[in-house]
Amino acid sequence: MSSQMPVSEAYSACVLSCPDTCAYVVTVENGRVVRVRGDPRHPYTLGRCCPKGYPHVLRTYHQHRLRHPLSRNETGNFVRIAWDEALDETAEWMREAKKRYGPQSVGIYSGSGNDGMPPRLAARFANAFGCRMMPGIVEICFEGPYEGARSNVGPFPPHELSDCVDSQCIVIWGTDKFESSLHTKQVIQQAIDRGAKLIVMDPRRTPHAKMADTYTTIRPGTDAALALGIANEIIRRDLYDHDFVNKHVLVFEEYRTRAAEYDKERVSEITWVEPDTIEKIAVAFATHGPALTATAPAGMNHYTNGTWAARTVHSLLADGVEEPCLRQNASGHSETSWSEAWATG
Ligand code: SF4
Repeated sequence: MSSQMPVSEAYSACVLSCPDTCAYVVTVENGRVVRVRGDPRHPYTLGRCCPKGYPHVLRTYHQHRLRHPLSRNETGNFVRIAWDEALDETAEWMREAKKRYGPQSVGIYSGSGNDGMPPRLAARFANAFGCRMMPGIVEICFEGPYEGARSNVGPFPPHELSDCVDSQCIVIWGTDKFESSLHTKQVIQQAIDRGAKLIVMDPRRTPHAKMADTYTTIRPGTDAALALGIANEIIRRDLYDHDFVNKHVLVFEEYRTRAAEYDKERVSEITWVEPDTIEKIAVAFATHGPALTATAPAGMNHYTNGTWAARTVHSLLADGVEEPCLRQNASGHSETSWSEAWATG
């Protein structure tokens, strides 16, 4: 009788720190994962994974992967210890710190590279212990723009990324969706194939920049000024949706007054974007809808004014030419995406 276990398939998802959470079909042979491929049945990731996803097999069994606890000995070198010993030692240190200094003296850091269940379970553990999770990738990199967007509109209404296929004007603002967002790239391409205009603002000449109808570089860190300049052009030319503004926008007059300080010549000096280009972007955005603004929670957020830059870009919503959407990831969670904004105009 053969001692070999049968080949089987299991269903999983990519756990890297990436919101796409690609759905996987995992082939297991003799108790070992031998292949990972995208699950074509998933409606969002459609069987496509990026080059970071496919090598999960190598990552899992790599000889340098840490698979057991290590402890530093008297000579300063790491030596392998048993799991029980490591857990007892850690528990003792945490108990002692809690007794002497209180639970908040302990910090738990989950790092990045694994955005699956472990950080969530660690957060629940921290909650039960009474300490806090130390800021991780989400808090450091993403929370600023999320907060900026939430300040404008509160919780986001649901919207499928796939709806964005119907967009007629796509503004890619400071992000490389071509090389870093496999599934958004797909949707953008489908919209372009249906005749959508493509506008790209980016200090780098990205692949999407090369195929854009309008491309401009921008002085890094000046996104808020550009957003106000675009808003000013839309309002000045009376291209905004009055009905939407009357029904849904608070303090629009204050917003109009503030935006009016950012005429295209002044904005050009601040941002290095040509005045004609600012005008062209504003007109296309407001008149060639439905429009989609694709940004990222990184990029413009990595400046001291990042949260406000994100809020200002998101404020183009106040002109009634866009509304935010939710993106559904492969694990079925809904994640707020302040960045993919869907226009009604
Ligand atoms: S796109 Fe994101 S979720 Fe999909 S395989 Fe790559 S890293 Fe993983």
